[in-house]
Amino acid sequence: MSPSKLPKLPSIRDLIQLYNLKAKQQLSQNFIMDKNVTDKIVGLAGLELDNALCVEVGPGPGLLTRSILDRGARNVIAVEKDERFLPTLHQLQDAADGRFRVLLGDMLKVDHQAIIDSGLQLESNADKHIESFNYVHLIGNLPFGVATPLLVQWLHLLALKQGIFSAPNVSMSLMFQKEVGDRITAYASESARGRLSVVAQSICDVFKIYNVPSTSFVPRPKVDATVVQLRPLEKPLLKSSLKTLEHVTRFAFMKRRKMLARIFKDWDPSQLALLEECEIDPTLRPQDVSTEKFCMLAQIIEQRSIKLP
Ligand code: SAM
Repeated sequence: MSPSKLPKLPSIRDLIQLYNLKAKQQLSQNFIMDKNVTDKIVGLAGLELDNALCVEVGPGPGLLTRSILDRGARNVIAVEKDERFLPTLHQLQDAADGRFRVLLGDMLKVDHQAIIDSGLQLESNADKHIESFNYVHLIGNLPFGVATPLLVQWLHLLALKQGIFSAPNVSMSLMFQKEVGDRITAYASESARGRLSVVAQSICDVFKIYNVPSTSFVPRPKVDATVVQLRPLEKPLLKSSLKTLEHVTRFAFMKRRKMLARIFKDWDPSQLALLEECEIDPTLRPQDVSTEKFCMLAQIIEQRSIKLP
């Protein structure tokens, strides 16, 4: 039996007024009020909903959550830091007929097992482990203030297949400030290319699925947003720990306008041979180096326990 749509609920605008939910800047609160926009995000996320756990970060008053549930998701767990949203989210919980639960907490600190356990509790015949879900979809209009630390933490967990990322199939559909979305998805030689591009692309296929203008949010932020989808690569390019790759990219991108030959000479001229070994043209600048080559470099640096500055 397919889950029904949600019953008619008060509008998000009315709920915000009723509960006096003024946006808090320190929690990067910018709300989407137009359900066409949230429906579009969920539609483009291509969620595989059979036997899936959807984890939403920062539901706020819950419009994106409504779209996920209206799409037919049977198991949605949302993590929200601001307790002021609990009344509206509990109302949604009651309307969702056992398909939705909210956890109050900070997504940066939350115990993933608590998310998994809440998801399992919503299932009637669930085994007691994450493998009983075939898919985990992480979705959210992320708080811009912590979007990058959140993504970096998730990439680490994904690389180690830990927490919610230990499910057999995982996807992330996440809204970032446009500039951050550009960085995540920039390939070698693109101007937005940086550390985050390399680190994300070392284990994920990354692509933009939807650009959302700043006018879609209340209050209106200074910049537009973009929804990026990240799907784990079947064969990750990463051959070292993600920590080592992060270290290598931090070192290289510290002087992003310089040629690699200069960066390596300034550090230790004897290490210039590393570039040759990885067949990296020393006249390139860091942003022109492919993710594959960075991964090769990180692998050698880790294997030989070379200390970077
Ligand atoms: N999903 C809603 C929407 O699209 O209208 C709200 C998005 S708003 C940009 C970000 C939401 O994340 C807010 O509800 C905020 O309270 C919440 N938030 C901020 N920091 C958080 C954190 N560390 N963990 C969980 N939620 C957080």
